[in-house]
Formats: sequence, C-alpha cells, structure tokens
Amino acid sequence: MTLTEQRFERDRIALASEPESQLAIAVNSLNFSYPDCPHVLQNIDLQVKVGERIGVVGANGCGKTTLFMLLCGILRPTMGVVSVLGRPVLPEEFRPDMGLVFQNPDDQLFSASVWDDVAFAPCNMGLSPDEIEQRVTAALALTEVQALAARPPHHLSGGEKKRVAIAGVLAMRPQILLLDEPSAQLDPRSRRQLIRLLDSLPLTQLIATHDLDLALELCDRTIVLNQGQIVYDGQTERIMSNAELLEQYALESPLSYSRPYCQLDHAPN
Ligand code: ADP
Repeated sequence: MTLTEQRFERDRIALASEPESQLAIAVNSLNFSYPDCPHVLQNIDLQVKVGERIGVVGANGCGKTTLFMLLCGILRPTMGVVSVLGRPVLPEEFRPDMGLVFQNPDDQLFSASVWDDVAFAPCNMGLSPDEIEQRVTAALALTEVQALAARPPHHLSGGEKKRVAIAGVLAMRPQILLLDEPSAQLDPRSRRQLIRLLDSLPLTQLIATHDLDLALELCDRTIVLNQGQIVYDGQTERIMSNAELLEQYALESPLSYSRPYCQLDHAPN
C-alpha cells in the first residue's frame, strides 16, 4: 500500500466511526447502471459530515453528475443505500433539505421571470405568501440578483443565470447543496463572486468541478472519481499537490500549483 493509500484508508476509517446523527450524507455500497451503460458507479461508500464542503473531481464521464442525481433521488440505485440527514432517499420524493444546482442553468430555469423561478420551489412547499416573499427576497439578495427579478431568465447572461439558479435552490432553505460544475462558463469576475457566495453559505456542500483551483480554495476535502469508483478521498491539498496522481486520473494540477510562466524562449524584437 502506498503512502497516499495508507492516508486515504486512515481518513476513511476516521469517517466511518462518525455517529450517524452528525452525517449529512451516508452512501453505502452504491452501484448504478443506466440501461445502455453498465457499471457507471461501483461500490461507492461515502460519508459527509454536516457542514463539510467537499470537491468532487474526475474526468468527463467518471460519474459525478450521476452520483448527484442518485443523492437527490432523481435516479434510483441499482444496488446500495443513500441516506440524507439520517433518512433514506426515496425515488421522486421532494426533499427541500437538499438542493441540486444543475450544470446548465437552462435545465433549471423555465419561468417567465426570475422572481417566479426563485419562488417555484417555495410555492411547491405549501408556504404562506408572506413566507414565500421573504424567502425569494432573501435568496435574490444573497445571490445579488435583486435587480433582475422582473427579467425573463432566458435573456440573462450565463453568470446571471447561474446565480438565479442558485437563488432558486437557496429559497428552499436546504441544508445540503449539490453544485454541478458551478464555475463552468463564468468569466473571472462572476467566478470570483460565486466563490465568495459559496464560501459565505453555512451549508453542507458537494461541488463537482473541473476547476481544481476552485476546489482548492473552497474545499478542505476532495473526492476523486475514476471510472465510477472513488479512488481518493482526503485532504484537497494533498491530492492537488500530487501531479503524478492527478495525471493518472486524467486531471491537471491546479494553475495555482503550476510553475509560473515568466520566461520567453525568444525575446520579442
Ligand atoms: P460526469 O458528470 O463525471 O461527466 P456522468 O455522470 O454524466 O459523468 O456520466 C457517467 C457515465 O454515464 C458516462 O459514461 C455517460 O456516458 C453515462 N451516462 C450519463 N447519462 C446517461 C444516460 N441518461 N443514459 C445512458 N448513459 C448515461
């Protein structure tokens, strides 16, 4: 067993002894196949403590989105059990305690106005009109999109749509946030606003991302998925500083760990 594997094992044992009551998510022996794509996830064991913020990284097609859809009950496991906040996840049950922000906000935003979109989940929770208004106002403020409330979501920029999608999920007041590629297609300023927002939210968060710098900045713990299996679960810094291991899983070192490029081969004339 390599040193990394030994540390990985130690972290897993420490987490396995965590009392169930302090777990936000508990996944045991999870396996999943699509009808035309077998073994997408294999033997996934995962325990997430309340308040943890975890990066979920891995090459395209390794199973990150599928894992998120299983965690929130959109998909049903082929085998194994998923529990959220001490209760098993039942397929198609609406669980406002867990919110999924889709990779593509166009998959999530469909109402005629930003306000209606953010109000959609609270309306489905049977809340009073006052409570709905309060929640929508607070979510729009938190994500800094109050000025967009009357606009149609499909007219917004990518970064604006992303923030509205997050507002829609926050309006449910979830305890757990699953974010699928939250920084994809954002310009540097929108990405920075997003990082500040996620950092300020006192929620359990799982962040699937190819943006390893974002994971490094926001997440103490990172999980690496490779061909449907968890191949690393431990400190973010430890995996991000291991270029060899990253390469093995088709990942590249975060830019902040790359050597600065400051020398030109040929000086300009
Ligand atoms: P990631 O989010 O890491 O890119 P996904 O969870 O989207 O990975 O996909 C994992 C695997 O499952 C891929 O091989 C993908 O082709 C396959 N897959 C994803 N969605 C479907 C689907 N609806 N039907 C069949 N196969 C799928």
